[in-house]
Amino acid sequence: MGVVGMQHAKQLLCSNSHMAWTMNTFPLSRILFVLIGLSPFLVPLVFVMPISSPFTLYYMLVSASFILLSMSFTGWLSALLKILLSLSCLASILSLVISGGFLATGAMHSILLTNPDEVTGYFQLIDWRILLPTMMLTLGGLYCFWHTHIPLTNLTKAMASLFLLVLLCALPVFKWMFDAEEKRLIQQDKMHLIYLYQDVPAYNLYRVASLTFYERFKSHIQYGNELPKHVQIDIADTENLPQNIVIVIGESSRRDAYSMYGNPIDASPQLMLRHTSQPNTFSVIDGVFAPAPNTRESVPRSFSFVSTDERLYQGLTYTNIINLARTMGYQTSWITTQALYTRWDSFTAKVATSAERVFHKSEHGQPWHDRDAANKVSDVLKHNQQPQFIVLHLSGEHADYAIRNGETVPSHHRQAIVQQIPNNALLSQAELSYFSSVHLTDTILDGLIREVFADEQDSLFVYFSDHGEVIGKGHGLQPIQIEDELAIPYFAIGRLAKNMTRAIDCYRDNKHHLFNNAHFPEVLLTTLGMKVEPPEQVKHFTYYSIKGETRSLPDDFSFNFHYQKERQCEQ
Ligand SMILES: [Zn+2]
Repeated sequence: MGVVGMQHAKQLLCSNSHMAWTMNTFPLSRILFVLIGLSPFLVPLVFVMPISSPFTLYYMLVSASFILLSMSFTGWLSALLKILLSLSCLASILSLVISGGFLATGAMHSILLTNPDEVTGYFQLIDWRILLPTMMLTLGGLYCFWHTHIPLTNLTKAMASLFLLVLLCALPVFKWMFDAEEKRLIQQDKMHLIYLYQDVPAYNLYRVASLTFYERFKSHIQYGNELPKHVQIDIADTENLPQNIVIVIGESSRRDAYSMYGNPIDASPQLMLRHTSQPNTFSVIDGVFAPAPNTRESVPRSFSFVSTDERLYQGLTYTNIINLARTMGYQTSWITTQALYTRWDSFTAKVATSAERVFHKSEHGQPWHDRDAANKVSDVLKHNQQPQFIVLHLSGEHADYAIRNGETVPSHHRQAIVQQIPNNALLSQAELSYFSSVHLTDTILDGLIREVFADEQDSLFVYFSDHGEVIGKGHGLQPIQIEDELAIPYFAIGRLAKNMTRAIDCYRDNKHHLFNNAHFPEVLLTTLGMKVEPPEQVKHFTYYSIKGETRSLPDDFSFNFHYQKERQCEQ
C-alpha cells in the first residue's frame, strides 16, 4: 500500500508538469519535480560509491549536470536524450538490485553470450520483494524526469554544456598528471580513457556497451604461437609424460561444499573415500582461487597465458596449454555441456576450439547431460591411437541448483543430504539443492575417475571449478564476496599428483599463500617435468573483477586453510 500510495502521489505531482513548467507554477513544486526527476540518477550512487570520497561528489555533479541539461532541451533532442538516459538508468538499477552493482562489462559479456537456461537459472535468485518496489519507484522518478522542462536561454544552455564538458575532461587530465600508471595505460591505448570513468546510471549502459564491443573487436584473432618470457621450455625434452591427461572443470562449485575441505555435510562421499584411501595418488590442494568470479573471464585464464593483471585479448599473442599439449604429442579434445557457440563469441569457445575435437552436444539430438559428457570422455579414451588430453567442462552447480541440463536432480541425491542434517540444523531450500547438486557431481566424477584409470593407469586427472558461488545469490556479485566466489575445490589424481601439489606451492602469493588458477598452464607444465620460472606477479595475489578491473585482496582479508601443511616452495 505504501509503495502504491507513493506512486500515486508522484503521478499526481507529475501530472501537473503537463503544464510543462509554465512560469506561473509555484517554485516549490518546480524544485520537487526536478528533485524527483534527478533521484533515479543520483540515489543509486550512494549504494555503490563511498559517500566520503571526493570522487563520489564528482560523479554526483556529472550526473546532475547531465540530467539538468537534458531537462532544458525541447523537441526531438529532448526526447532522444531522455530516452537514452532513461534506458541506461533502468539497466543500472535493474543490475544494482539483481547483482549488487551497476551493469559491468563482465556481466554484459555474459548476458550477450549466455544461453536461455542460464538466464532462467538467474530468475530463481532474484528477490522480487526488493525488485518490484524499486522498479516502481524508479519508473515514478523517470516519469517526472520525462515530464520536466527547465526553461533556459540558449546562452545558459551553451554555458551549461561547456561546464559539463570541462567536468568530464577534468578526470582524465587529473589522472594523466597525478597517476603515472594510468598515464602509461592511456599512452598505450587511447580507449583506456573510457576505462577511467566509473559508472553512473546516466551513461552506465553506453560506457559498458562500448567497452564490451571494443573488447570483442580486440578478441577476433586466434591464439598465437609465442611463449611468455617466463615459460622457456623445450617440448622436445619431454619424456615420462602420463599417457592421458583429463582435466575436469566444475561450474559454480564452491570449495567448502566439498567434504574434503572439512564441511560436516558430506556432499562428496565418493571423492572423500578416494582421498582417504589413496593418499599417495589423490592430492587435495587447498587455498586455490579462481582468477575471476565468472566463467567468461576465469576459464580462458586457466588455459592460456594471460594473468589477472591483463585483459583477455592482451594474451592472444601467446599460445595456450591446449596447443602446447598437442605439440607434446597428445590428441586434444574439449567436451562441454555449456553453450559454447552462441550469438556472441566467447573466449571460452576460443580456447575450446584450440582443441582438435570439440564435443558440445549429443550426436543424434539425444539429451546431453553432464553424465553423457563424462561418458564421452571414456569413449574418447577407449577409441584412440595416441595419448589423450581432454578437457571436460561440466554444467555443475550453476543456478537453478535443482535442475541439471534441463533434468531435475534425482531425489536420491537430495535424500543423501537430508539424512545428514541434524534435527536442529537450518538449511535453506537453496542450500539443500546446492549440496544435492554437488552430490550428483560427486557421482559423475567418481564414475569418470574409475573409467579414466581403468583405461590407462598412468593418467593425470585434475578437477577444479571455474569459480565459486554465493548459494542462493549466484556469482559475479558486487561487491564481490571474495572467499565464496573465488575459493574453489582442486584435486589431482595419478602418479604426478604430488608433483602438482609441489608445483602449486611455488605459485602461491607471499601474503596469503593462495594459488591463483590463472597460472594453471605453468603449473601443469611444471608437473609434467618442464622448467618454468614463476613470474613476478605471482607474489601478489590479484583477481579480475566483474567490472573488468584487476583487483587486490582487501587488507583485512584472511583465509582459513583446512590443510595446514608445508606451503613453502621446494625448488
Ligand atoms: Zn562459471
